[in-house]
Amino acid sequence: MMEKIAFLTMVALSLVVLLNCGAGGERNPKDHYKKANMSLENLTIIIIYDNNPYDSSLRTAWGFSCLIRFGGKNILFDTGGDSPTLLYNMEQLKIKPKEIDAVVLSHIHGDHVGGLSGFLKRNSGVTVYLPKSFPLSFKDEVRSFGAKVEEVHKSGELFDNVYSTGELGVWIKEQSLILKTPKGPVIITGCAHPGVVKIVNKSKRLVGGNPVLVMGGFHLGGTSEGEIRRIIADFKKLGVLQAGPSHCSGDRARQLFREAYRENFLELGVGRTITIGE
Ligand SMILES: [Zn+2]
Ligand SMILES: [Zn+2]
Repeated sequence: MMEKIAFLTMVALSLVVLLNCGAGGERNPKDHYKKANMSLENLTIIIIYDNNPYDSSLRTAWGFSCLIRFGGKNILFDTGGDSPTLLYNMEQLKIKPKEIDAVVLSHIHGDHVGGLSGFLKRNSGVTVYLPKSFPLSFKDEVRSFGAKVEEVHKSGELFDNVYSTGELGVWIKEQSLILKTPKGPVIITGCAHPGVVKIVNKSKRLVGGNPVLVMGGFHLGGTSEGEIRRIIADFKKLGVLQAGPSHCSGDRARQLFREAYRENFLELGVGRTITIGE
């Protein structure tokens, strides 16, 4: 077991070093957005791991993870870059590893899968939904903890009203989650390497409706201002009501989205809770 843990840790660490989503020190100390309205709770998303700060009692580090409470299930979407940070923030947020029912991994980059081994040591009684293209060695290591592996290739429903886009993208395969709420679909991206507009289009084809929120990493750090503006225009055309670019979205993209979406821009960072009511 120790060998396996050491191996998985090594894999995770090398992935953090070799494969991440393009690190950059994004900080936004301004925090004058109200906490989400907790009444009429239907869908709750809590950001557990992000390089953007929000709750100053939590640790920031490069990566992304959030907890999704929906339809009676607790789903951990991505695991951040390292388990000490992930587990510390979970503890501060009073989220017990044992209450997680399932883990969904968006893509293989170390800043999304790095916290998995430490989490599985606390709770191996979960199913890990990962892109089919993940290396066999990774899947075997997940199983070695006692966790189940579900390989996702095509789009489809993972749980009631919870859909995966399936593996999108050419070089970096990635899945995003779509949560079908009474208000409209909520789309959560890890890094959006396949292109965030492509992901929104996929959601439209899969579940229809105007997305009430698109959030997560949009991967626009090195993207030109013109291109970001085109993406924002596409969001509007596709009827995206609220935007919450975080993680690897880039400061410039966050600012342009903030200006374009105004009261419908969500200032996301670690510890932010979003609720979508009935
Ligand atoms: Zn990535
Ligand atoms: Zn990333």
